[in-house]
Amino acid sequence: MRAVVFTDYQTFPSLEEVERPQPGPGEVLLKVAGAGACHSDVAIYKDFVEGAPGAQRPAFTLGHENSGWIEEMGPGVHGFTVGDAYLVYGPVGCGHCRACSRGQDTYCENAATMPYLGIGLGRDGGMAEYVVVPARNLIPLGDADPIAAAPLSDAALTPYHAIKNSLPNLAGGGRFALVIGLGGLGQIAVQILSALTGATVIATDMKQDAMERAAASGALTVPGGDGQVAAIRALTDGRGVDAAFDFVGATPTIKTAQASMAQGGRFTVVGIAGGTTEWSFFGTPYESTITNTYWGTIEDLYEVVDMYQAGQIQPEIERYSMDDALEAYRKLESGQLSGRAVVVPHGV
Ligand code: NAD
Ligand code: ZN
Repeated sequence: MRAVVFTDYQTFPSLEEVERPQPGPGEVLLKVAGAGACHSDVAIYKDFVEGAPGAQRPAFTLGHENSGWIEEMGPGVHGFTVGDAYLVYGPVGCGHCRACSRGQDTYCENAATMPYLGIGLGRDGGMAEYVVVPARNLIPLGDADPIAAAPLSDAALTPYHAIKNSLPNLAGGGRFALVIGLGGLGQIAVQILSALTGATVIATDMKQDAMERAAASGALTVPGGDGQVAAIRALTDGRGVDAAFDFVGATPTIKTAQASMAQGGRFTVVGIAGGTTEWSFFGTPYESTITNTYWGTIEDLYEVVDMYQAGQIQPEIERYSMDDALEAYRKLESGQLSGRAVVVPHGV
């Protein structure tokens, strides 16, 4: 079968012929419906070097945002029906520590001893015709279109988890949320904020078309450049935003969000561009918080699927055949996508 393989650090992935995998005990073989291209993949193959935090040793098939149909069950797997559609929860922890027991494999207490972080993150992912996943990681999609749903497993799950942790800051009237970086994750963040809170959503990106799409989901948009923080503050009557989400994570975006916060506000850095900032007592609004986050929980993913089925999350996707899978990554890297790129190995 064909697969998009991360062959070496700082090397563009290649489309290769590989063996179709076999499901082991407790695992399932999925015929891949859709595999989303995430900007974290670009970090994996372009930025990371051996030993860097988050780096996963090559070679493996990319694709940590997957959906598919059950093709075959490994030994000991029961209760599934061949042909049913599932979304894949990507993180894979030890499965038995406290974090994994609450469905939060992202924060597995035994992560240091695990040979990989997840599907498409150190072990073979879904940018292929077939993928093997632990049966525990399957979330039923019912009759929802699994191709359109693929981005839910990262581009929706990650902002959902971040927003859920910020809900106390956004409860009540007259609240404001800031979203920086309106790509795959940021666009869905705007939709989730609109569905879960009554907050006014302020959104920004360097790309005009990205801001227009966020505006269509109900956000007020503020362009970048000089005066951006003042413009954000003006929209909040000077108070600042109650919750901020940075889907870039570069030094300038972190500083923008930090300077836009209200007293008691919560700022979550989601993007992994590696930016840094300073903190000082008088230089920060009282009782404001800066935090980070990594993906989400299995239970969160069930809730994301519920929101999708209720029409509250509608990922915009661009479909790519296996032949064009590398083109999807080229466009993602150069900022030319206007929806989440989803590779569809079995007929676009
Ligand atoms: P994407 O490429 O689809 O979108 C990024 C968006 O940010 C683009 O619209 C781009 O124009 C915009 N942007 C870039 N620089 C900007 C700047 N300086 N100011 C304003 N906007 C800017 O990427 P994505 O797949 O949505 O991922 C977003 C980030 O989140 C990446 O860093 C990715 O690695 C990270 N990520 C983190 C997690 C996590 O668990 N923490 C999970 C998935 C992705
Ligand atoms: Zn664990």
